[in-house]
Amino acid sequence: MRVYLDNNATTMVDPDVMREMEPFFVEKYGNPNSLHAFASQTHPALKVAMEKIYAVINAPKSGWVLMRTCTTESNNWVLKSIYLEEILTGKKNHIVVSEVEHPSVLATAKYIESMGCKVSYLPVNSEGIVEAERLREVITDKTALVSVMWANNETGAIFPVEEMAQIAAEYGAKFHTDAVQAVGKIPIDVQDFEPDYLTFSAHKFHGPKGVGALYIKKGSELTPLLHGGSQMGGLRSGTLNVPGIVGMGKAMEIAADALDFEMVEVKELRDMLEDALLEIPDTFVVTPRNKRTANTLLIAFRGVEGEAMLWDLNRAGIAASTGSACASEDLEANTVMEAIGAAEDLAHTAIRFSLSRFTTEEEIEYTIDATKKAVERLRSISSSYAYAPKGHESGLEARH
Ligand code: PLP
Repeated sequence: MRVYLDNNATTMVDPDVMREMEPFFVEKYGNPNSLHAFASQTHPALKVAMEKIYAVINAPKSGWVLMRTCTTESNNWVLKSIYLEEILTGKKNHIVVSEVEHPSVLATAKYIESMGCKVSYLPVNSEGIVEAERLREVITDKTALVSVMWANNETGAIFPVEEMAQIAAEYGAKFHTDAVQAVGKIPIDVQDFEPDYLTFSAHKFHGPKGVGALYIKKGSELTPLLHGGSQMGGLRSGTLNVPGIVGMGKAMEIAADALDFEMVEVKELRDMLEDALLEIPDTFVVTPRNKRTANTLLIAFRGVEGEAMLWDLNRAGIAASTGSACASEDLEANTVMEAIGAAEDLAHTAIRFSLSRFTTEEEIEYTIDATKKAVERLRSISSSYAYAPKGHESGLEARH
């Protein structure tokens, strides 16, 4: 059996999305900005897709939804543009990010720091959650930007972005949230708490890879990083990825319709997996269930190296992860496990299972069985398991 439980890294394209995209490769390929009949084959579909994207996040017509290649690009753009506009000009001198942001935010923040900007890194609590009050401790009227993700890619932990956006506004700072792990998993309404910037990608909710969006609130326009065209109001030049945008529109529409299914049925399967795996002794989960997205489980099995576990699971045909996909080639400890202060031996044992609406009960039963066997086998040959510290000494408490 082959089981794909790495949906926080990327997802399968929904066959209905694929069908919607297909005509826009060979049959209908005109540049939607051209002034001829070929363009009129693509322009209307582009418009419909954009309307769907605006509708699902409830973006007001006054705001911008700019189509991008991915969330990495959008996150880079937000931070670098703020640097150019606010920091380099001397208006402000500080930005705030969380310690557990994706590298597309963290590495960009470090780059900006190396250019002379002050950067504060908000810690997480023992549940892997960034608390809004911690923002009050570091924010000043010289803070240009606060960038905190909506849902964490490793644990699924949902962060209090509404409260943080409010605090940022009190200090005249812009607020950005990386919502790539939130869209399709929890309701999104940008008119609810009015972030200045919100970024997400189609490939995380059964759309195609290579297409994403950046929502910008009216009045918070960024400096274009790509000049040379009039696409997207000149804010993002370059010929538009019509099949990709059409696919993203369709994927968003389906994801919005499937939201209840995701939050109820997918959660049931995730909980079934979690309950069964927590029966294994010396097993830990960081974030409580009601504080995370319905599809995600980050679980640590004491004495079992994450990479060894992945190897066993992979041999059984199961795809999971030890960290974000981009970091999985190195053997560093899981970022969140490090951030919550888990001892080194446990930080290397975390495995992330991330489900989707295509995951079946049969697949979960098979995964439970294979994981239990893998833990037993790996612990029987693990010298660290026999000597590993127990309970609170490891910085984590069992959440049975
Ligand atoms: N931000 C988070 C929280 C992610 O999980 C990811 C991908 O794993 C990204 C950003 C990068 O997204 P993309 O691959 O679309 O650049």
